[in-house]
Amino acid sequence: MTHTSDRKYWDEKLETQSRADWDALKLALLQKHLQHAYANSPYYRQSFDAAGVHPAQIKTLADIRRFPLINKKTLRERQIAVPPFGDIVAVPERDIVYISASSGSTGVPTASPFTARDFDDWMDYEARQFWSSGLRPEDRYCHSLNFTLFIGGPCVIGAQKLGALCIHAGTVPSERLLNILRQFQATAIWTTPSYAWYLGETASKEGIDLKKDLNVKRIFVAGEPGGSIPETRQRIETLWGASVYDYYGLSDIFGSCAGMCEEKHGLHWAEDHILVEVLDPETSEPVREGERGEMVLTTLKKSARPLVRFRTGDIVSFTSEPCACGRTSQRMLGTHGRLDDMLIIKGVNIFPSDVEAIARKDHDFTGEYRLVVERGDNHLDELIIEVERASSSPEHDADLAHRFAGHLKSIVGISATIVILPPDTLPRATHKAKRIEDKRQHVWS
Ligand SMILES: [Zn+2]
Repeated sequence: MTHTSDRKYWDEKLETQSRADWDALKLALLQKHLQHAYANSPYYRQSFDAAGVHPAQIKTLADIRRFPLINKKTLRERQIAVPPFGDIVAVPERDIVYISASSGSTGVPTASPFTARDFDDWMDYEARQFWSSGLRPEDRYCHSLNFTLFIGGPCVIGAQKLGALCIHAGTVPSERLLNILRQFQATAIWTTPSYAWYLGETASKEGIDLKKDLNVKRIFVAGEPGGSIPETRQRIETLWGASVYDYYGLSDIFGSCAGMCEEKHGLHWAEDHILVEVLDPETSEPVREGERGEMVLTTLKKSARPLVRFRTGDIVSFTSEPCACGRTSQRMLGTHGRLDDMLIIKGVNIFPSDVEAIARKDHDFTGEYRLVVERGDNHLDELIIEVERASSSPEHDADLAHRFAGHLKSIVGISATIVILPPDTLPRATHKAKRIEDKRQHVWS
């Protein structure tokens, strides 16, 4: 399905329906989806029975609160218990056609499986979301996200479904990416906010005039809070002379679960695919609109691996107010931060235990470490890792830092500034060590 470019909506009836119609749609989908989970997922059958709940008890959307919460740890444990995909899966393996996988603290990525129908649903949603951000069949869209098991990779197919000319660039060196943008005069690109900034600055340094030599009008970003921080977004927009749209994705559900429309005031949730709760992390009670809480997601259609009340660890706020764009879906007002100690640096998840594993394996280090996260002047996150050299180590600090950075890059997949400290510099904690110093704005205390 492609549309004429002057159409405002991809699916007007769905996107502009009343809040009551959204709720009725979600309730019908939820009832059916939980029946599927209970009937076909060994994990949910056991979990619902143990909690004394049954899908037939869902009479209103609020009834979801009777059901147990799960988190990333649950997914990982079930995958380890029943390899390779875990017993949350609710379809035979022959029906699975695609998996994404996300990094985690154990170094074992958790897989997120899709049936062919799940994948088509996802791409139809991506097309709708891209359309709401102004992408049209006339656009030349350059997809500059990682394709290796990453949930963001296939989102390009949604842009193709919309009718845009799609360039599957992936993550290539910035010089080459700039050449692609220039050669094909791409009008839209998707990358992370920090990379959009870096790429723009690199272009300027190389004498490329972003506004004259390139033709980028829209930049889609995800993976970091920066896209929802107006100052960061505006700086990137000014640098490129383009409009920046923030998207929110989750490896365990879709590459986009929410995204900005052209009004750019919050991210419209994919409410026909996901039931969203925003809960007080202490009490698990819903917070009021505008208040901050943890985003908890329940899939409504994804049959390969239904997620019921999945705690994302992301702190968000939301609004149900009508958007000036005419769409009636609820909007999340950005991701404010993380609940637990998992850090997202430049779109990649990192846990302190990842660093610990590296620091403790190499005997030139004491095994003590600390992660310091700062928000730079450009509002983008910077990770500094402090590690202590062992007193017995004959190596130079610069060599140790280089080696540590190499391990970090190959094992976790991220870059950081490594600071080598003399032995016994970092504080030794008798209880739970404070391994993270987050110097960014504290949003939840
Ligand atoms: Zn809107």
